[in-house]
Amino acid sequence: MGMMTAEQYEESLRRLNLKVYMFGERLENVVDHPIIRPSMNAVAKTYELAHQPEYEDLMTARSHLSGRKINRFTHIHQSPEDLVKKSKMGRLLGRETGCCFQRCVGMDALNALSIVTFDIDAKYGTSYNRRFLKYLEFVQEKDFTCDGAMTDPKGDRSLPPHQQTDPDLYLHVVAENSDGIVVRGAKAHQTGAVNSHEIIVMPTLALRKEDEDYAVSFALPSDAQGIVYIVGRQPGDTRRMEGGDIDQGNSFFGGHEALVVFDDVFVPWDRVFMYKEYDFAGQLVETFAAYHRQSYACKVGVGDVLIGAAQTIAEFNRVERASHIKDKIVEMNHLNETLFCGCLACASEGRQEPSGTYLVDTLLANVHKHNVTRFPYEIARLVQDIAGGLMVTLASEKDFKSETPGKWLKKYLKANPQVDTEHRIRILRLIENLTLGNAAVGYLTESMHGAGSPQAQRIMIARKVNMPEKQKAARKLCGIDPK
Ligand code: SF4
Ligand code: FE
Repeated sequence: MGMMTAEQYEESLRRLNLKVYMFGERLENVVDHPIIRPSMNAVAKTYELAHQPEYEDLMTARSHLSGRKINRFTHIHQSPEDLVKKSKMGRLLGRETGCCFQRCVGMDALNALSIVTFDIDAKYGTSYNRRFLKYLEFVQEKDFTCDGAMTDPKGDRSLPPHQQTDPDLYLHVVAENSDGIVVRGAKAHQTGAVNSHEIIVMPTLALRKEDEDYAVSFALPSDAQGIVYIVGRQPGDTRRMEGGDIDQGNSFFGGHEALVVFDDVFVPWDRVFMYKEYDFAGQLVETFAAYHRQSYACKVGVGDVLIGAAQTIAEFNRVERASHIKDKIVEMNHLNETLFCGCLACASEGRQEPSGTYLVDTLLANVHKHNVTRFPYEIARLVQDIAGGLMVTLASEKDFKSETPGKWLKKYLKANPQVDTEHRIRILRLIENLTLGNAAVGYLTESMHGAGSPQAQRIMIARKVNMPEKQKAARKLCGIDPK
């Protein structure tokens, strides 16, 4: 089959038999649940845009395996140009959806595994890369969305996996036979998990010999026997169940995260891409993290939406000519475009790995993600400053639409006489959604912790900078060392 359309994607999800829990109950119909559906719509956008001629160059690529046109989310980067297009695709989709569109994690897992399976084989003579490429061909052929599952619950952070009181706090292998392995554990904060066809599991940290049962990477259908999803709450989630659309801010798109439990799940050998090669766990984590830190190009697109909202509410309030408002909007743009510089720079400085895959410049990818842990917060602060307090004191859509409160609200919330009061309310609700509501999970907290918390990037920055080169330059110029 060729690339799926958005409609085919939705239908393909209906065929899955996922075991999903929310509010204490198993969901009968995941796709149409009002809390899940906006997140499904966001992933569907990655399918829809791939069929639009104006986005073909960004959204599609030629498979290096089959030569066929595929969705870029299933592509293995073959050049720095591919990496640059990936960054631009992230910005585009962030702008189109105003939220996390979830599909990047699987793309980043596929690319990381294309590199690391090759390197494991080179050292140990294993055949992981061949297995992986067969799997990749299947994903490309089906145009599947993959959940990239890395983060374990981690239990006591001061102890390695094998010393935890409960050994399942890191996902591990509990049995093996001639057909495959059995795994137990969980993966936390899984973005887009219930909108995915496949789950690709990777270890969460560098490991030692004692933890070799935890050094495992594999892929499974998302509805494999023994996999359970528990969907996490997000601010404003139940507004999705109230009917109406204004109070949601962005009623069509959103994100979701889930805890994914692996309750003794069988994995056939042809789906296992690492097992016991503990010395490669760290490389897999770092490679995936570098790609995923680049993926935070998505926040630039969401930043575009927020800046557009800031300008709009300024005009609706008739303050757009005030010099401090103009200056704040310039500052927001400066921060947002600085983020764009980072995700483009790490892409264009990408280099080819022995497997043939192009990897981003890991120092620059970490610098980019580190900026992402800060700048969206400042952009959000500025837009809240411009929006004013009404954003959080606004009455409900139902009040606006009922007779007595509606009459007073329309009278007293009028600002610019040229602007419909409902439009003023809609833009304020969008800003609320992006800075305090459902989308703030993606724009703020995920910017902080997704793809690794700030300290993880600082460690990588310290490790990757070429300090001797800098010292040499300084010592030479001041005359310590001969020229
Ligand atoms: Fe993709 Fe951004 Fe969501 Fe991560 S946070 S999955 S990079 S859209
Ligand atoms: Fe993320």
